[in-house]
Amino acid sequence: MVEERRGEVGQESKNPYYEGKKYEEPTFCPSCGLVYHQGRWLNESVPKGKGANESLCPACRRERDRNPEGLVYLSGDYFNGHRKEIIQLAKNTEERAQENRPLQRIMWSEKDSGYLKIATTNEHLARRMGKAIARAHSGELEINSGDNERLVRVYWEREE
Ligand SMILES: [Zn+2]
Repeated sequence: MVEERRGEVGQESKNPYYEGKKYEEPTFCPSCGLVYHQGRWLNESVPKGKGANESLCPACRRERDRNPEGLVYLSGDYFNGHRKEIIQLAKNTEERAQENRPLQRIMWSEKDSGYLKIATTNEHLARRMGKAIARAHSGELEINSGDNERLVRVYWEREE
């Protein structure tokens, strides 16, 4: 794999997950197959010509590093009783985001001391998931933006 050149876009290049980072075109992500084209990572089938560059896209980089930008915490008796449909709603939210923003993904979900915790590659996706669940199922929604790190924690809870 060819690592991208560093230091080309000023300060932002210090954040390896920066979605606006510039790459040579075309660049392919060897992990998910997205193509960097016209300044964006796209879900396009562009033939891999000779000399195409390879670099992990920002989303796969986060997956490799297990470093989410958003965490969604779901809990409560009501959640436990409606777990399947609420998780499906979270997945649908991801699918809709993917149509235009293929870097916005669910990274994993796991149980974590009474919560179901869903990790996402993108803070907006985490916020949208929380809001979609609250819209459909009421309950209590709380969104905490990260202090120094750019990590957003979204809590949704409904007991009855
Ligand atoms: Zn990728």
